Amino acid sequence: MKVNRRDFLKLSGAGIGAAAVLGLDPGSVAISAPRELALKRRVQETTTICCYCGVGCGAIVSTYDDGIIKIEGDPDHPINEGTLCPKGQAMAQVRQVDGELNKYRLTTPLYRAPNATGWEEKSWDWMIETIANRVKETRDNNWNTGAGRTDAVASFGGGELDNEECYLLSKMNRALGVVYLEHCARI
Ligand code: SF4
Repeated sequence: MKVNRRDFLKLSGAGIGAAAVLGLDPGSVAISAPRELALKRRVQETTTICCYCGVGCGAIVSTYDDGIIKIEGDPDHPINEGTLCPKGQAMAQVRQVDGELNKYRLTTPLYRAPNATGWEEKSWDWMIETIANRVKETRDNNWNTGAGRTDAVASFGGGELDNEECYLLSKMNRALGVVYLEHCARI
């Protein structure tokens, strides 16, 4: 006979009730303890922050043999208290898909030169220096002295930025004289 959890509770209650009717001490009824099974896998749990948006939900990642087997919301985290939205629940796919390493994950910056049709791999140092040089050059060549600003540069923030990063980004842009500040969540 197949007994589900609800049936089990009903049968247990009925058994104890029957013992009481028969004058038996329910405390004397033998209850078999569950068998102790040795854990076959050493699963490690690590806390982390969701990589997808500025809400910054906390998550617990269970790993085994360098692979992720489960991601769940961290009940002790004050922001999400154990919950995760669908994006957060799919966080493991950043690294792996169906147990295999995600072959589409980018690990190196890609650069496409003006008018080029293909992408080339660049180092982070090259990328940061190139962006900084181009922003400076564009700003200086399009400086509006009367207004004390440039209309040639705009800043577009991403959903992964948290409060502090947004604060620093807007400070930096205003110091550069950039007035067009936008964010993907507003578009
Ligand atoms: S994407 Fe979802 S789970 Fe991740 S931080 Fe944002 S709201 Fe939280």
